[in-house]
Amino acid sequence: MYAKHTHLETIYLGKAMSKKQRTIGLLGGMSWESTATYYRELNEGIRAELGGLHSAKICLVSVDFAEIEKLQHIEDWEGTAIILSEAAAAIEKGGADFLLICTNTMHKVAPQIEENISIPILHIADATAERLREDGIKKVGLLGTRFTMEQDFYKARLTEKYGIDVIVPELSEREDVHAVIYNELCLGTIDEDSRARYLKIIEQLAANGAEAVILGCTEIALLVQQNHTAIPLYDTTAIHAEQAVRQALLS
Ligand code: GLU
Repeated sequence: MYAKHTHLETIYLGKAMSKKQRTIGLLGGMSWESTATYYRELNEGIRAELGGLHSAKICLVSVDFAEIEKLQHIEDWEGTAIILSEAAAAIEKGGADFLLICTNTMHKVAPQIEENISIPILHIADATAERLREDGIKKVGLLGTRFTMEQDFYKARLTEKYGIDVIVPELSEREDVHAVIYNELCLGTIDEDSRARYLKIIEQLAANGAEAVILGCTEIALLVQQNHTAIPLYDTTAIHAEQAVRQALLS
């Protein structure tokens, strides 16, 4: 027996169920290695909440990261903003109720993207800061691309909006963390030596007073997980996805 419900019942149930969740917009591809994690975690989160065959309603646009990376490294942020704003508008048109930019770094141009759409952006730094605040963390270490670790768009948001002190590794370590992201993690390469160096850097941040460390790049959790260290890690990809599931199910 295939049919558990009559055709009309199925349509009715479908409509009733579809009211329960909002559509999550994903601006992905930066890199697709971490967008795949978002996709899985959002679906797992919705299934955990709603059970059975439920899955997340997602509208995804995935950009070509090579184009973005080239513009980042010549500091053409306006160029990246144009590409990402167009992608965000397409996501809104596709039916998304709110938007996740699936990278910490490209939140640098979140204000320009926001101007181009009318749906809200669920900011990755806000989602992370709220979790840190809930846990009473006052001083935190930050790992990410050099753009994220060195510029103000991310650190200042944590400090000014949430009163959280942010410390970053020293220059040679920041260069190493950055290189591993672009030359390994965004290409799907997981290297034991790189993991060992990351763990050393995390320990140094703790020695400098960090109560926890933000994995402030959406690929870092592919390399370093909580079971590798006793220092509390805040995985921005997982936190962002969890917050999105919560927002998708708000009545
Ligand atoms: N996904 C990374 C991040 O969270 C880096 C790639 C990018 O530059 O967007 O920052």
